[in-house]
Amino acid sequence: MNTIVLASSNKGKLREFSELFEPMNIDVVPQAEFGVPEAEEIGFTFVENAIIKARNAAEHTGLPAIADDSGIEVDYLLGAPGIYSARYAGENASDEDNLNALLAALEGVPEQERTARYQCLLVMMRHSKDPTPLICQADWQGSILTAPIGEGGFGYDPIFWVAETQCSSAQLTAEQKHAISHRGKAIRQFMAEFQGDKL
Ligand code: IMP
Repeated sequence: MNTIVLASSNKGKLREFSELFEPMNIDVVPQAEFGVPEAEEIGFTFVENAIIKARNAAEHTGLPAIADDSGIEVDYLLGAPGIYSARYAGENASDEDNLNALLAALEGVPEQERTARYQCLLVMMRHSKDPTPLICQADWQGSILTAPIGEGGFGYDPIFWVAETQCSSAQLTAEQKHAISHRGKAIRQFMAEFQGDKL
């Protein structure tokens, strides 16, 4: 069985990747199990940060590594919080702190100006010096509500309105979200490209 290191400690991401790679006899192991220190996300784009994270995990383990860098862009805020989505309310901010900071930044902004999108960037590096990493990117269009609705998902999901399903992304089941989300789309692209790949 081949092993891929996941450059993340997010349990939701680990579950999704493990399920997808299992049929290919590939074991996805979170970087914490190898004692890999968190990489500093010093890039200015999702792709830079995903490469930094994947390279760091590959370097410390000597194994192929996959990283997912994602976030939410709000048009009224000129794309913020973007790559800073996980720390919008400060270092070590909780999902709730970040969500409340975004609601505060959009206080009084009318519905038609609250358009937004999630971005997901996936990178796989076969080794730490891989000059041609496998890169997939996808987005998911929506808009920002004025108050949270729904209990599912994580992060900004309770305030992300999905027009096609007429509900917030926190009101979707995991399967429904996966079928239309930025991450679901990026993972499907990734799996299509990965099929013929050698580790
Ligand atoms: P990362 O784990 O460093 O890539 O940070 C991702 C950030 O974007 C976190 O703040 C998440 O809350 C947010 N985010 C990314 N994808 C989603 C999603 O599917 N739902 C809600 N928030 C998300």
